[in-house]
Amino acid sequence: MKTLEQELAQRRAAHLYRERLVLDSPQGTEVRVGEESLLSFCSNDYLGLANHPEVVAALRAGAERYGVGAGASHLVSGHSRAHHALEEELADFVGAERALLFSTGYMANLGVVSALTGRHDVIFEDRANHASLIDAARLTRAKVNRYPHADAERLAEMLARNQRPGLITTDAVFSMDGDMAPLADLFRLASRHGARLLADDAHGFGVLGKNGRGSFEHLEIPLAPPAILMATLGKALGVFGAFVAGEAALIETLIQRARTYIYTTALPPAVAEATRASLRIVRAEGWRREHLRALVAKFRAGAQHLGFVLADSATPIQPLILGDAKKALDTSRRLRELGILIPAIRPPTVPEGSARLRITFSAAHTATQVDRLLEALAAVVSG
Ligand code: PMP
Repeated sequence: MKTLEQELAQRRAAHLYRERLVLDSPQGTEVRVGEESLLSFCSNDYLGLANHPEVVAALRAGAERYGVGAGASHLVSGHSRAHHALEEELADFVGAERALLFSTGYMANLGVVSALTGRHDVIFEDRANHASLIDAARLTRAKVNRYPHADAERLAEMLARNQRPGLITTDAVFSMDGDMAPLADLFRLASRHGARLLADDAHGFGVLGKNGRGSFEHLEIPLAPPAILMATLGKALGVFGAFVAGEAALIETLIQRARTYIYTTALPPAVAEATRASLRIVRAEGWRREHLRALVAKFRAGAQHLGFVLADSATPIQPLILGDAKKALDTSRRLRELGILIPAIRPPTVPEGSARLRITFSAAHTATQVDRLLEALAAVVSG
């Protein structure tokens, strides 16, 4: 058996070694790493709320009122007025009967899938699903069928052959490619075959749709059974946590059965207060979404002009696929020398041969900063 050291050395030789940056500043478009000041195009803080003064003030006020730790799980004594109010506001915002907070999106996906499926069920999952959905399926004793990325026709064939209760799981916006799932088709298929559809809108919530309600609003699909929405609160909302929204019976079932809900400490109530402040901004400031869309359009036009082949993405996730891991690492290093931060994303996060720069935009970016990015890319990437 290889030692851990040998395995790590092998990983390094294959250009797959992962390292952490240490940030000395808040999240934002300009971040500081030690003495280095970098223009960042790699966070999921899509609306620029992670360091918004009102959100920071709400966190502080929440800590004054509720202290720091929740002290217990939701079902024991950790469920505060702040959590409860946030759940009601989230349900109202997305137009669902109820919503349930989880500590992270990873845990929410694990919780929903394991609460709704067992050994008599079948899970159908998109091949490009986020790791948390893949791990969720692995955790249950359900049979797991993977369908080719965004291929509703293949899924329809699989569903037609299936006799058991089914759960379809998909990213609504795919985290590494920025493209969208064919949610309307999936919704129709789930309805026709008596299956449920779990849509993970981590990257659409707050960003897509006129009001920021996410992929369902953007695609004009009702958020009603068989659909279940999972969305995270640490990306566009700039805070931390996640929620699941759906009909009352679903939420009650999760409270009874989702192990990642039951057996863990509730997130700090002050974090829920900060998220409430953030949600108020998401609702009130549509200009953030409009500005973000304009920046993405500007980037795409500029990159195409430079001869880059872009992925088919209309979201703030704009991957530049470079192929092998070494090329992605080298390009990322050269960008950093020019003051731009975009880490390389390599296998196994993305398929072999599709290492990339995952470029993401935020409403806090300016048009001038997008020009700086385009200039730097022109200098270091051959189109
Ligand atoms: N789903 C998707 C599609 C994600 O991109 C992420 C985060 N990278 C998660 C779930 C997990 O969310 P969290 O970070 O809150 O655990």
